[in-house]
Amino acid sequence: MVKEIAIISGKGGTGKTSVVAGFASLAENIILADCDVDAPDLHILLQPDIKKTEEFQSSKVAQLNPALCTECGLCEEHCRFNAAHPPEIDSISCEGCGVCEYVCPEGAIQMVDKISGHLFESRTRFGPMSHAKLLPGEGNSGLLVTEVRKQGEELARSHHSDIILIDGSPGIGCPVIATIRSIDLAIIVTEPTMSGIHDMSRVLQLADRFNVPSTIIINKYDLSESNTQRITDFCNENNLPLLGKIPFDPIVTKSMLDAKTLPEHAPTHAISLLMKEMWDDVIQMVL
Ligand code: SF4
Ligand code: SF4
Repeated sequence: MVKEIAIISGKGGTGKTSVVAGFASLAENIILADCDVDAPDLHILLQPDIKKTEEFQSSKVAQLNPALCTECGLCEEHCRFNAAHPPEIDSISCEGCGVCEYVCPEGAIQMVDKISGHLFESRTRFGPMSHAKLLPGEGNSGLLVTEVRKQGEELARSHHSDIILIDGSPGIGCPVIATIRSIDLAIIVTEPTMSGIHDMSRVLQLADRFNVPSTIIINKYDLSESNTQRITDFCNENNLPLLGKIPFDPIVTKSMLDAKTLPEHAPTHAISLLMKEMWDDVIQMVL
């Protein structure tokens, strides 16, 4: 049975994607899924070769037929979003409410599907990858995350893969809920700052709410030994496994500048060996 593991963080900038990419380079026969559809960045490191692109349509937009429009002004009068300016509609301002179609006496307005983003199926040097990009200003990111996961599950079936490794989005909103729903393990990457601790506990509550087992990685733990101790105490008090503590080291940034994961860039470095140990533990937790 396919196991789904998501790497998430209550806040951005904790090093979540570096951890995903590091694990991806150590794993065997996995499927990758980037569910951070609002601001995906896993592709920057993995340079995927896109094999298939699909349009993601999740909302409607008004379309005006100038040949039927008498410019009576009713649509402009009723539009609450200042989008109807007959004989034109401002498709960026249009919220797709459908009021103008309803009030137009000439049948000059039709609601049509709007492209809100794109879904991609790709190949990377670490295996197949499902990913997506929401267009600026578009909503329904949770729905697009669901599509990314669905495609990831299809890829796992067709490639006989047991593991889907998911890069989640920061925060605790819709895309995160769609990411962690019914997964097998959430790995929460945090950092030893007060905001890091606060956001870690919020995303942990979310995972608990959906009965998803969690484990913690403290990234750059040596930047604040006292806050690292707070996180460690929190884990002990809540019976939460601490997967590992990664020290701060400029080599992580150097590997990124080289467009490589750390285990690729420096396979025998202490952090690469630590990542290997953590990945082995993750496999033990889900299998
Ligand atoms: S309500 Fe219909 S006919 Fe009137 S201005 Fe708008 S599109 Fe044109
Ligand atoms: S669909 Fe709604 S928001 Fe869009 S133009 Fe018509 S009335 Fe305005």
